[in-house]
Amino acid sequence: MSTRNTTTAVVGGPVVQLPTPLGTFAAQAWSDPANGTEHMSVSAPAPAGYEAEPPLVRLHSECLTGDVFGSYRCDCGEQLEYALARIQEQGGTLVYLRGHEGRGIGLANKLAAYALQEGGADTVEANEQLGLPVDSRDYAAAADILHQLGLSSIRLLSNNPLKHHHLSRHGIEVVAMVATEVAPRMENLRYLQTKRDRMNHSLSLPTTTPTEGPNE
Ligand SMILES: [Zn+2]
Repeated sequence: MSTRNTTTAVVGGPVVQLPTPLGTFAAQAWSDPANGTEHMSVSAPAPAGYEAEPPLVRLHSECLTGDVFGSYRCDCGEQLEYALARIQEQGGTLVYLRGHEGRGIGLANKLAAYALQEGGADTVEANEQLGLPVDSRDYAAAADILHQLGLSSIRLLSNNPLKHHHLSRHGIEVVAMVATEVAPRMENLRYLQTKRDRMNHSLSLPTTTPTEGPNE
């Protein structure tokens, strides 16, 4: 759980160009003096036709297994790629939030929860068995970064109504929620069902058997 003082501003560094396979982004690091956490924002300008739209914003919680290794146990890696592609296409910002690993419980605890899931628990039950909160993510730093980037009225790329709620509480106006559905897989179907059924995510999941392994 974050203990950051809301009066302490997150400090932004210089803006640099970040060329990626999905396009070039303007990247900036943000240090939270309250807890030493370093976040990063990546932004792309709105192309012709999207200038009048509120910018797309994705708050992406760090997930080492999904983002770096492309694990199919969750959909984080695919969500990250999907969000970056939409931001290139329509203009906006992705804030990559460190310290959000495993919805805030950390990498070691997340893998301990995976071990319990292999024994039959779902995401929520596994955290409960470990005596850990199901979701302890804090969005004060994210809201602060958005304010400093001048993004106080946004379209939020998310299926999670809690993120909308947290941002509103921190003074960010969410004018629309934009769904980020990626195709479910055999390996993450139960994870996605738990998100939908126990964590209020807006997801429409198929009744047919989804893809196993890479789509490519
Ligand atoms: Zn993940």
